[in-house]
Amino acid sequence: MKIYLNGDLVEEKDAKVSVFDHGLLYGDGVFEGTRIYNGRVVFLDEHINRLFESAKVIDLDVGMTKEEIKAATIETCKANGLKDGYIRHLVTRGVGTLGLNPYLCEKASVIIIAADIQLYPADLYETGMKIVTAGTIRNLPEALNPRVKSLNYLNNIMAKIEAINAGVMECLMLNAQGTIAEASGDNVFALKGNKLMTPPPWCGGLEGITRDKVMKLAADMGLEVSETVMTRYEIWTADEVFLTGTAAEVIPVIELDKRTIGAGKPGPITKKLIEAYRQFVNNNGTPVQ
Ligand code: PMP
Repeated sequence: MKIYLNGDLVEEKDAKVSVFDHGLLYGDGVFEGTRIYNGRVVFLDEHINRLFESAKVIDLDVGMTKEEIKAATIETCKANGLKDGYIRHLVTRGVGTLGLNPYLCEKASVIIIAADIQLYPADLYETGMKIVTAGTIRNLPEALNPRVKSLNYLNNIMAKIEAINAGVMECLMLNAQGTIAEASGDNVFALKGNKLMTPPPWCGGLEGITRDKVMKLAADMGLEVSETVMTRYEIWTADEVFLTGTAAEVIPVIELDKRTIGAGKPGPITKKLIEAYRQFVNNNGTPVQ
């Protein structure tokens, strides 16, 4: 596998970063996860825009233009003959000293990995997923805004550990006020009648690119879509609940904390949205060839 590393395509075994890179020392950097379907990179502009916004918020100079990163992305996919998979963009603060000072890091490291994707088991889309509420609350937006997709994912990993130890694959993360932020690596939606709701980003979630697309698809279907401050009340009383994410796409949730949601099986609207989303991603995007 060829990895893009600071302007070069190198073999995986040669794709190495310094132990003095602040991405490693402090989680000081940003990242993106993008997919390629049928030889087309889907939502490339959206992911690169978010990468640059995350970088801006942490005052990180990417050192490349958006166009250059997009071209490097396509080049990396091409070099690996990748038609379906997952692309990881990493921009770290770069090599510095052992001290915190980011301004002593000379230049950002830019890494692009185009590889296989790890998906949820296919049957979960038919049967629905069970989740739990994590005790770990989502990072405070006033401290480190979850809208920044930073390399410091410990908050999410702490929650993921709870999910795995509870025997499930995902969890609901609340914010310090006790309202719903998101899942550890996905956004959350609840449907009640004709109303589809998801928490606003200021409640402490990533503004997911899948989330944005699903909101548009749902509106096109005639649903009343809103960003709503949600507690678990909205989950317990929902007809349907699902998660969204680049890797997950749209995945139904049928149980929270061992309590059944709705009819306890994936609902008709969730199924329609799964299909509509798949239809879109399989037929759009930036061609690699
Ligand atoms: N929330 C978190 C914490 C995430 O890491 C992700 C991405 N895996 C999402 C939500 C979903 O965002 P997107 O749809 O842009 O992949």
